[in-house]
Amino acid sequence: APLAPTDLNQLTEEYLRLAYQGLRAKDPSFHAARTKHLAPDLRPVPAVASDLGRVLLNLFTNAFYAVQQRQKLGEAGYVPEVSVSTRPLPTGHVEIRVRDNGTGIPEAVKEKVFQPFFTTKPTHEGTGLGLSLSHGIVTQSHGGTLTVESQEGEFTEFIICLPG
Ligand code: ADP
Ligand code: MG
Repeated sequence: APLAPTDLNQLTEEYLRLAYQGLRAKDPSFHAARTKHLAPDLRPVPAVASDLGRVLLNLFTNAFYAVQQRQKLGEAGYVPEVSVSTRPLPTGHVEIRVRDNGTGIPEAVKEKVFQPFFTTKPTHEGTGLGLSLSHGIVTQSHGGTLTVESQEGEFTEFIICLPG
């Protein structure tokens, strides 16, 4: 599919909703706060909406999984939260950040998360292909970057940066 002008705010909201619904279909007792900071009047960005949607769905699904895992640890006062932001950069790029306050990624694991078939999940929960495919979609078909920042036991943030 060709790149076409895409409203990233709309795409982001749509896939956040889908990911949360998917999780709650499996576990109706689970709740997580969702926070959105979407830049107003964000200009459309050249993208393949269905492919970028799959990237967002995987990032959100990973994020909800991570907060769910941390909640299972039973820390007092823990409130699971997934937040997403969009913002234009002075360079003309547009950034999407998907952040969660879940389990975080240990330093030794961080360098492997984009490798195909790398997963820390039981087989029925993941194939380990999500981030590898996502990295390919963002970098190769969109000319962007996909990076990660994380602190084990604190947070994880994936950053998509797309040329405007
Ligand atoms: P899968 O979700 O099938 O395991 P992914 O490629 O989407 O495959 O992710 C690979 C691995 O990266 C996960 O198994 C997990 O260890 C780590 N990971 C990805 N996202 C997060 C996150 N938000 N928090 C903690 N770990 C993560
Ligand atoms: Mg995944």
